[in-house]
Amino acid sequence: MTDQFDHSGRPGRSRDAAATNEQWRERYADTVMNTFGTPARVLVRGEGAHLWDADGREYIDLLAGIAVNCLGHAHPAIVAAVSEQIATLGHVSNVFTSPAQVRLAEQVVELVFPGARPGRSKAFLANSGTEANEAAFKIVRRHGGSARPRVLALVDAFHGRTMGALALTYKAAYRRPFEPLPGGVEFVPAGDVDALRSALGPDVAALFVEPIQGEAGVRELPSGYLETARELTSAVGALLVVDEVQTGMGRTGAWMAHHLLAPGVTPDVVTLAKGLGGGMPIGATVATGRAAELLEPGQHGTTFGGNPVAAAAALAVIDTIRREDLLARVTSLGERWAERLEAVDAVTQVRGRGLLRGVGLADAVGPAGEVADELGRRGFIVNAPRPDTLRLAPPFVLSDADADAFTAALADLLSTRGRTGAS
Ligand SMILES: *Cc1c(COP(=O)(O)O)cnc(C)c1O
Repeated sequence: MTDQFDHSGRPGRSRDAAATNEQWRERYADTVMNTFGTPARVLVRGEGAHLWDADGREYIDLLAGIAVNCLGHAHPAIVAAVSEQIATLGHVSNVFTSPAQVRLAEQVVELVFPGARPGRSKAFLANSGTEANEAAFKIVRRHGGSARPRVLALVDAFHGRTMGALALTYKAAYRRPFEPLPGGVEFVPAGDVDALRSALGPDVAALFVEPIQGEAGVRELPSGYLETARELTSAVGALLVVDEVQTGMGRTGAWMAHHLLAPGVTPDVVTLAKGLGGGMPIGATVATGRAAELLEPGQHGTTFGGNPVAAAAALAVIDTIRREDLLARVTSLGERWAERLEAVDAVTQVRGRGLLRGVGLADAVGPAGEVADELGRRGFIVNAPRPDTLRLAPPFVLSDADADAFTAALADLLSTRGRTGAS
């Protein structure tokens, strides 16, 4: 094992400093469980909307760790907030609380339910999106009891990978290997008001929706659907749970996508994660009215949830979005960019809002996964949530020049692939 120690005695430093992308990938394949396949590149540093890999290659980051790094990499406000908090008080468990946790809960409640009467809306802080949805599911079970065993979710929904959130996730390949899952979940076609009306009844505890289905390829619910869903769920006494894990925290140009798409709708429960911590792991389940009181002492918990360091990062994110007027920036850059992308040959459609965009590709250019890989080799990080769609979810601090560089590279690549029959 001597080769793993340099003269400072620190394990692995000298070997690691010179390691290439390929060497890291081999070590990854040897030791990290194969749930993701071996990632194409090993990233070592980030700044703003730029990333560098282990071979020193630079990339423009148009994915932001899947809609997470809303302020980009190494934003000074997050660095300062996290450094100060970890140097003061890093973790206390939920046996205690901290000013950062309480302040974040207050802020998040106000962002989700603006103008809420104090004490009416409450937050549970967790560590991820799937956990935010687990807590929402438990609220729903508490609401439903034995009289309302059914829970509705939408076809193509993605709500996470833990057992409860997985039960609410549509894709059979994700669910089947792990059945039996928590029962009672049924899927109704997204956007179909008649299907929703006939599925809802007094035995339904809740409907879960994403305002824009991110993992399904950035597909927005049709206009009016959320309003109708609110009316119909209220009429039968079911809760409306809006999953804003990907769409929330300014990603669409509003604090919450449902504020933008359905301004009159107040959900019972809203879940957040991804952008909330700007890169620190944190999630939140925010509820209003009776739904905010359904979990009682002992019925739910977490060791890390709401920890002061993650909470401090989230407070810095919220403060920076406000101070730098980033919601307006997300809207203006998002609209300008979507127009330019739509003008690219072989782009069939640009979906989504703000800086959450699905770029539809013509069949002639071949699978979007291959296009994403080729863009990676050309220095642009994107992903392909569907075989015909690229997803863009960049940091809010992306420059016009970087957005335009991508548009030009995409146009060039698609015209080459279109000509050669994409093989
Ligand atoms: C990513 C995502 C989740 C799961 O979040 P994790 O932090 O990966 O557990 C849940 N819902 C939606 C809509 C998501 O996009």
